[in-house]
Amino acid sequence: MTKEQQLEEIAHQVRVCTRCPLYKNTIHAVPGEGSSEAKVMFIGEGPGYWEDQQGRPFVGQAGKLLDELLQSIKLPRKEVFIGNVVKHRPPENRDPLPQEIEACAPFLDQQIKIINPKIIVTLGRFSLNKFLPGEFISKVHGQARFVNFAGQKRVVIPMYHPAAALRRSIIMEEIKKDFREIENF
Ligand code: SF4
Repeated sequence: MTKEQQLEEIAHQVRVCTRCPLYKNTIHAVPGEGSSEAKVMFIGEGPGYWEDQQGRPFVGQAGKLLDELLQSIKLPRKEVFIGNVVKHRPPENRDPLPQEIEACAPFLDQQIKIINPKIIVTLGRFSLNKFLPGEFISKVHGQARFVNFAGQKRVVIPMYHPAAALRRSIIMEEIKKDFREIENF
């Protein structure tokens, strides 16, 4: 199987998944999308309203901001992979529960193994804690760390979630600055 086929197989498994209750009352699963050869993988928290409507990650206002941030470092969206720690929208956009994150983790782990990205950009605290447990986003954002994950040494760059940047102008300035860190690798 090619890498694209392997990713499509995971996407299929996500669409029929009932491992946790989050699939209930959703319209679409959001398995993630992008290049199977991506050097940079962005991992957010979970689908929101528009993502659930369309079955695609980061398509609402936060997605627009992510697109602008990608453009600012001349990185085409089609060359990266964008996913989330949970693949179905939590009700009313609440935080995903630890047991939901755990149930969904094998999908993300497989995506990382297949794509084998050099850089993982975590967006928000839930994906940060997957790679750097116990760290605080306010303390470590923008700081590249080396992490052993899925048998490989990888660069993890924690960033605020774009939705947080839309709420607070100070975080907007931070995320713009943090994005430039990607260009150093
Ligand atoms: S959120 Fe993940 S574990 Fe839960 S039902 Fe959806 S795909 Fe399955």
